[in-house]
Amino acid sequence: MSEVGRFAPSPSGRMHLGNLLCSLLAWLSAKQSGGRIVLRIEDLDRARCPRKYADQLEADLQWLGLHWDEGGSQGGAHGPYYQSQRDEMYWHYFKKLQEKGLVYPCFCTRAQLHAASAPHREDGTPIYSGICKTLSTEQVQQNRLQRSPAMRCKVPDQTICFVDGHMGEYRENLEKDCGDFVLQRSDGVFAYQLAVVVDDACMGITQVVRGADLLDSTPRQIYLYEQLGLKAPQFYHLPLLLAQDGRRLSKRDGDVSLEQLQSKYTAPEIIGRLAYLAGILAKPEPAKPKELLTVFDWSMVPKQDIRLPNDLF
Ligand code: GLU
Repeated sequence: MSEVGRFAPSPSGRMHLGNLLCSLLAWLSAKQSGGRIVLRIEDLDRARCPRKYADQLEADLQWLGLHWDEGGSQGGAHGPYYQSQRDEMYWHYFKKLQEKGLVYPCFCTRAQLHAASAPHREDGTPIYSGICKTLSTEQVQQNRLQRSPAMRCKVPDQTICFVDGHMGEYRENLEKDCGDFVLQRSDGVFAYQLAVVVDDACMGITQVVRGADLLDSTPRQIYLYEQLGLKAPQFYHLPLLLAQDGRRLSKRDGDVSLEQLQSKYTAPEIIGRLAYLAGILAKPEPAKPKELLTVFDWSMVPKQDIRLPNDLF
């Protein structure tokens, strides 16, 4: 089956090696099936994601030879492709959830949410207690005079189980392991969890390739697909790239960005090294994305996080 994959970068700076590896695998996985790639710019957080970064990102992907078929500034039939321009779509699906009685306002402050007594997820984020779910209409009206609420999605005591194309079976109990989650922030910005589901469904995406840090977001997203009567794509989560000291790579910490890499290496040298890290090539020799199509297989890619060797980049 020819798949429709996607690049879904958040343009809050130059891409780092982890973003590049993710783009490469998404491209290989979709193209190997004879499929297509959609570019969607995840700039929900408008302040952190100015347009110039999105434009830079397009130039970087093109330079690497990771071309897409639809989306970004090139446009296409399922646009707009910038999340900052898709509020109308998000409202439409948000209202559907409201009609199903799944949405309620939450007035908790950051400090309340992060209280030491709150149960926490494995990654340290607090599991919401559901305290605002029981507010009366009068209490909600009173609270609204003080501050605008975030809007949360109620979750049932239901275990979501799915088979990730790379990581295998993954399960999570929505109530115990996750809790009611935010659909819209108190400043009116829609949350990633809702936006990504609406966008992937509306853009006809059949295959989602992304970092393992989002594996535990997937049950929430599958729940939204179910509630909205939309078909979920196949998910593939790839291992994270870690710095030599074991930290996760991040744009903020100034980890090897494409800017630094471009001054030292050609595009095929970067692609070849990434393919080597991902187990696709036995040696870090230069390669073009197209040349990897005949050798790529998900079974080559490790499941554990990958620590960057100090002599590779
Ligand atoms: N925009 C997210 C990122 O750049 C990816 C979200 C996704 O792939 O679902 O990390």
